[in-house]
Amino acid sequence: MTRVNTVLGTISAHELGFVAIHEHIGYGMPGSELDSRWWKTPEERYDETVPKLRQFHENAKPWGAATFVDATGICNGRDVDYYKSLSAKTEVHIVASTGFVGGDTALPFFERASVEYLTDQFVHEIDVGIGTSGAKAGIIKVGVSRGFKMKELDKRIYRAAARASKVTGAPIFTHLAVDCEPALAIFAEEGLPCHRVLFGHADDGVSQGRINEQAILAAGGRIGFDTFGYDLELPDPPFWGRPRQERLDHLLRYLQGGLVDQVLVSADANCSPLGWPGVKGHTVNYLFEQLIPDLHGAGIDDATIDRIFAQLAAEFLTLQPISAQ
Ligand SMILES: [Zn+2]
Repeated sequence: MTRVNTVLGTISAHELGFVAIHEHIGYGMPGSELDSRWWKTPEERYDETVPKLRQFHENAKPWGAATFVDATGICNGRDVDYYKSLSAKTEVHIVASTGFVGGDTALPFFERASVEYLTDQFVHEIDVGIGTSGAKAGIIKVGVSRGFKMKELDKRIYRAAARASKVTGAPIFTHLAVDCEPALAIFAEEGLPCHRVLFGHADDGVSQGRINEQAILAAGGRIGFDTFGYDLELPDPPFWGRPRQERLDHLLRYLQGGLVDQVLVSADANCSPLGWPGVKGHTVNYLFEQLIPDLHGAGIDDATIDRIFAQLAAEFLTLQPISAQ
């Protein structure tokens, strides 16, 4: 049987339905929970989050189920007991992550850890569970620290993620697809095939011109069009925003160029941001309200949309351990 770890248990990949592959229940920088300016009561967090997840569940009905992949790493506000209650109440499958958004969001305790230590941490969270929650992580998050260049700690985390991915079979999600050459070298050295890696945020505004898409494609990596909805047309767009049509055209070049199987698509929205105001008017439901109509308008058929949001996502999330030779 195919296996995918959700916060309420391990399920078959056939049960996932529509998958939003890179989202956040709530993302914040380490320590934001200590800033009184941003304290939220549990009621406020539920009030902000539950309607969005219920709407997501409703929108995904034609696919039979809804799956929300929370790409929030360790130290960035990951709260697994909270995810469990949200999933139980809304019936949205939630997949949690182990790993780190980037070296610069790892607290000093982990900053000094060896590759072996980090590998054990990631494997434990996927195979045994996160803390005492009983929930297992389903993906491994890694990333490039600020400055568009991988730092030494980023590289240590990537190497540990590659080893943990081989043991557990969990896929790797990168924060940013810039400076991919050292990442590709690490995956090659560790013997991890790159179809197990989603090079994320290849579509954001600030990364354009800095990503070697050809190198990622040549290695068999997956290209993340996973910041859909951070449009410059928003009333108060973030610095990583991009004109809506330009991002859509970027994706269409892949879909119309025979590269459907190398992309995955999501919105990277926050249901209830932690320690920052978030981006108003942007939710995971952008995928249904704006993107899918835009794709239909560009002549993309339902089979292709299904392939991206159901089949390819399920295949990617399925645990696929690589046995040692
Ligand atoms: Zn994200």
